Amino acid sequence: MGKMRKKVAIIGGGYTALSCANRLVKKGFDVTIFEKTDSLGGIAKCIECNGTKIEKHYRHIFKSDKYVINLLEELDLINKLKWPETKMAYYSKNGLYAFGTPFTLLKYRPLSFIEKIIFGFSVVKLKLIKDYKKIEKYTAEEWMIKNCGEKIYKKIWEPLLITKFGDNKDKVSMAWLWGKINLRSTSGTLEGERLGYLDGSYDVLTEKLIQELNLNGCKIELNQKVEEVKKDNAEYTIKTTDKIINHFDYVVNTVPYDSAKYILRNVLTDDENRKMDNLKYTSAKTLLIYSKKSLSNFYWTNIGDRDIPFGGIIEHTNMIDKSNYNDNYIIYISNYMYKDDRLFSLNAEELFDEYYPYLSQINKEFKKEDVLKLEVYEELYAQPIITTNYSEKMIGIKLEEDGLYLGTMAQIYPEDRGMNYAIKIGTEIAENIINRNIK
Ligand SMILES: Cc1cc2nc3c(=O)[nH]c(=O)nc-3n(C[C@H](O)[C@H](O)[C@H](O)COP(=O)(O)OP(=O)(O)OC[C@H]3O[C@@H](n4cnc5c(N)ncnc54)[C@H](O)[C@@H]3O)c2cc1C
Repeated sequence: MGKMRKKVAIIGGGYTALSCANRLVKKGFDVTIFEKTDSLGGIAKCIECNGTKIEKHYRHIFKSDKYVINLLEELDLINKLKWPETKMAYYSKNGLYAFGTPFTLLKYRPLSFIEKIIFGFSVVKLKLIKDYKKIEKYTAEEWMIKNCGEKIYKKIWEPLLITKFGDNKDKVSMAWLWGKINLRSTSGTLEGERLGYLDGSYDVLTEKLIQELNLNGCKIELNQKVEEVKKDNAEYTIKTTDKIINHFDYVVNTVPYDSAKYILRNVLTDDENRKMDNLKYTSAKTLLIYSKKSLSNFYWTNIGDRDIPFGGIIEHTNMIDKSNYNDNYIIYISNYMYKDDRLFSLNAEELFDEYYPYLSQINKEFKKEDVLKLEVYEELYAQPIITTNYSEKMIGIKLEEDGLYLGTMAQIYPEDRGMNYAIKIGTEIAENIINRNIK
């Protein structure tokens, strides 16, 4: 592009931003990433766990995550992607059961024989639906009750919806659940599930992306919280907590709506503002347990007992060998909630005290003395609540103001948000900007 190098400002430094910047700098654009914290990676950031990097929140890759896989190939990291066998379980009031394959369904005691058949048929019916628009007008609750009856809904689906959306469980669109089930089933086999994991954690990919960005002249502004975007004479100005930078041709916002609404207040239309106001998110609080003892044989356990105050147990060392973590068992306790929930304000020890009676109910051998260390990580904007007919309510990647782009979890639909789709949206925005500049 020679002297005509176009300037792009990217707000936020998570995977949408990194993948967008990676594409743009390689095509000669002058890109600046503004990230409010002191490092890049966003929700996918990793921590040191007994000498090995690990994700703050559990993390795996599905077979259908082709954008992640393509990026790993592009960056020569595909040999780091491993596909260990992972077992899934469901904990209901009657106990812990293997779940997720036709064989385990047959052995699943909380459902009667007839219920198992109805459940199996409803999942097959769902997988045969190719066009989400046919079901987006139904709530997940309506569709499930209609197709498998109230009893099965209450035993299987309702606890899962409550786990993620709490009191808003009856507002969630069937298109969201359809996307979620389809995604998960791409990694299933008749014997069980195989999920992908990056040897050395997602940090390996983040570090490589940063290396590529630096090599290609991307400017990375850390500890720079963006406060305002203004447009004057077809050029954008970015104001952060302590600087003002001018002359951007394009701005890509990747931060969630609550902040985006404020940052973009000068440039959003009334309709965009209203749509942003209407979208709500759930938050997430993940407890990380380093333990001397294993909790179960399963990698992923969904909690279907409504008396238990958390939604899932992810025993990471049932996917990746514990020898990587100094022989500690690494267990994540996943919990989605709202930021005003009492549990959201608790520290790691307090949260563990709340959870312990239920962990020992699930495995009587699991004792407090087995716990070596506890850590807690939280995300305020963990999951948008996708309501019915979302295709009519969502804002696309291009905002009305020319040159302004939006790439957040709210642009991902009908699939459930995830790393693959962060990379997809980041790449799509970059392609759009590149195509506008092809003479
Ligand atoms: C508990 C949990 C578990 C998950 N597990 C998986 C999984 O196993 N597999 C999977 O594929 N996906 C998983 N996901 C989803 C995945 O992590 C996200 O979809 C993805 O990381 C989102 O990336 P992003 O770039 O859109 O946003 P983010 O990662 O949220 O990045 C946004 C960035 O913007 C920065 N920022 C915010 N405000 C400002 C501002 N004013 N100025 C400058 N910077 C700002 C933030 O600090 C952050 O770095 C999980 C999510 C959660 C919450």
